Amino acid sequence: MTKVGAHVSIAGGVANAPGNAYDLKCECFQLFTRSPRGGQRKEIDLEKFFEDCQKYNFEIGKDYIVHSPYYINLASADEKIYQNSIRILQDELKVASEIKCPYVITHLGSAKDQDKKVAQKRVLAGLVAIYKDYQNSAMLTLEIAAGSGNVMGVDLDEFKFYFDELKKIGIEVGFCFDTCHAFAGGYDLRTSEKVQEVFREIDQKIGLKNLKCIHFNDSKTEFNSKKDRHEHIGKGSIGEIGLKSVAQEAQKLGINIYLETNHDQIKEDLILTKSFNEAKRTR
Ligand SMILES: [Zn+2]
Repeated sequence: MTKVGAHVSIAGGVANAPGNAYDLKCECFQLFTRSPRGGQRKEIDLEKFFEDCQKYNFEIGKDYIVHSPYYINLASADEKIYQNSIRILQDELKVASEIKCPYVITHLGSAKDQDKKVAQKRVLAGLVAIYKDYQNSAMLTLEIAAGSGNVMGVDLDEFKFYFDELKKIGIEVGFCFDTCHAFAGGYDLRTSEKVQEVFREIDQKIGLKNLKCIHFNDSKTEFNSKKDRHEHIGKGSIGEIGLKSVAQEAQKLGINIYLETNHDQIKEDLILTKSFNEAKRTR
């Protein structure tokens, strides 16, 4: 069954996330394990985290995902930034595995002034390095980006390259589809037909079995704007019809939906999104 949740705060500690998610009536949740803009990670109270998952009815190992920090850049020509991105993602996968989280969502970074093809090879090598001697259970999941500047991971052909190359050497990664990023990056999602077209393309190029979750956001900017600005559900340029179709595709696949809209109206966004499918709800 598709569950509907949101990105939630870890103020006061990661172990507060399940309680925060419950307060918003989330059925699943996304969290950071550290400050997304930098700084050291604090110790996680694992006992409280697991206790609260049970208390608030979140299935351990299933109903939450980790989002990596924003400063990751696996395409960086700067060796220090590049190696640091690899190290941080390895650490995120380790911590996610400790809290029995199945997926770590990450952006790929930016090519800046490098040639895109060169940058793609660098990203691929970084992904391979992350998985060297891999002992943990969590899976790295690559998120589609909106496309400002020389950002990596905007079109599905690029993802096809990573998935094909990684498969050849037996590395399995996931794919995260963000509705706002995809729409701003040039994938029209305004009608049911367009949505189905996009999902067919994901299937052809990446395989729908590799689609692990949906970031569910409307877009403040116009189609193909290349700008990443999340809007409340049904209030942006994608609109309710298109987003409902995406929710229905998620339901067919049985994957969860995570909202990343501003928390001022997130409760309303969650109610509306839940109404997009007829699944029996627990909250
Ligand atoms: Zn996202």
